[in-house]
Amino acid sequence: MNVLVINCGSSSLKYQVINSDTEEVLAKGLCERIGLDGRLVYQKAGGEKEITEADMPTHKQAIQMVLDALINPNTGALKSLDEIGAVGHRMVHGGEKFACSTILDEEVLKAVEECNDLAPLHNPANLIGVRACQELMPHVPMVGVFDTAFHQTMPEKAYLYGIDYDYYEKYKVRRYGFHGTSHSYVSKRAAEMLGRPYEELKTIVCHLGNGASICAVQNGQSIDTSMGLTPLEGLIMGTRSGDIDPGAMEYLAKKEGLDLEGVLSVLNKKSGVQGLSHISSDFRDLEAAAAKDDPAGIRALDTYNYRVAKYVGAYTAAMNGVDVICFTAGVGENGPNTRKGICDYLGYLGIELDEEANLVRGEEKIISTPDSKVTVICLPTNEELAIARETVALVNG
Ligand code: ADP
Repeated sequence: MNVLVINCGSSSLKYQVINSDTEEVLAKGLCERIGLDGRLVYQKAGGEKEITEADMPTHKQAIQMVLDALINPNTGALKSLDEIGAVGHRMVHGGEKFACSTILDEEVLKAVEECNDLAPLHNPANLIGVRACQELMPHVPMVGVFDTAFHQTMPEKAYLYGIDYDYYEKYKVRRYGFHGTSHSYVSKRAAEMLGRPYEELKTIVCHLGNGASICAVQNGQSIDTSMGLTPLEGLIMGTRSGDIDPGAMEYLAKKEGLDLEGVLSVLNKKSGVQGLSHISSDFRDLEAAAAKDDPAGIRALDTYNYRVAKYVGAYTAAMNGVDVICFTAGVGENGPNTRKGICDYLGYLGIELDEEANLVRGEEKIISTPDSKVTVICLPTNEELAIARETVALVNG
């Protein structure tokens, strides 16, 4: 079956068509600047990237353009839209309502809508994408795969914050965690690579992209993760602060004359390695600066690595040990220096990095020595494939 995987944001939309039998990507691309002017990027497997500038005032029009490109007689990957058997939608926040992927019917969409307050930027955009696809492909089954679902196995002691329990009961203020599809895919794949039963492993997945989170996976279940009610908590990210004393928010607000929204904007958009360095949120720029002994680049990278290493220590304690540590996403897959900088803190775990193997970029590879007490793996994530697999599993029932 061919699955159209859609990841719909407020002004952009990423898509892939995956043949679920061969797991081949038949075509992929994105729509950008939806509602502004509009730009479609389309690439058929083995083909050139095609860029079309065209008005796409709404998500429905953007998706219509994607569908037209997919069946274009010259460059389309499909002969007709009948070849799309299902659509898998990446959904950001499923609150406590969704512990697994689900077929999107009216009742489910209402339940997703009820989670909108928890992710006011992302969830409404996801829903717009689903509605648009439903209108354009009314007979094709739609599946929602939630970023939060994998973490619903966390025990209460891991997801509760140390605040009045009433806030949890009344408003569901708690840790939810994100990147669940990636943490699940990577931890499972690590077990496969090692030929070990998933249910018996203690794995720590470091998803280090623009957004970054870390997850402790024990016996095949997420038992703790660093992002919280929102994706702002935890690791230092490209532009997000990660953990910070909430009291600092009031102090900052007073000093800078900001309201709550202003402070949150600072913490989300002007912090992280970007804020620490004043150079860039991109690790390639930071590494180039650090290579020239620029103290700002070094400061940002050191602070970043230290935070990740502290979380690895915390999650090792939470699981009373760790068998495997995986590095994934943009920085985790392509950043030998970052991986080494983090592993340098972990000698106490008996970790020995194979420096030669660690030079790998964007490929699955064990990067620890055979004697290392913990296996360290570079493991590219594939959230689209994971969404396609979940979609087919549900549609085939
Ligand atoms: P997201 O999906 O959260 O937007 P990605 O997982 O694509 O993010 O990661 C993007 C980040 O990966 C970039 O900001 C950059 O810092 C990092 N990155 C990409 N390629 C490299 C590389 N070759 N070396 C170091 N970092 C890289």
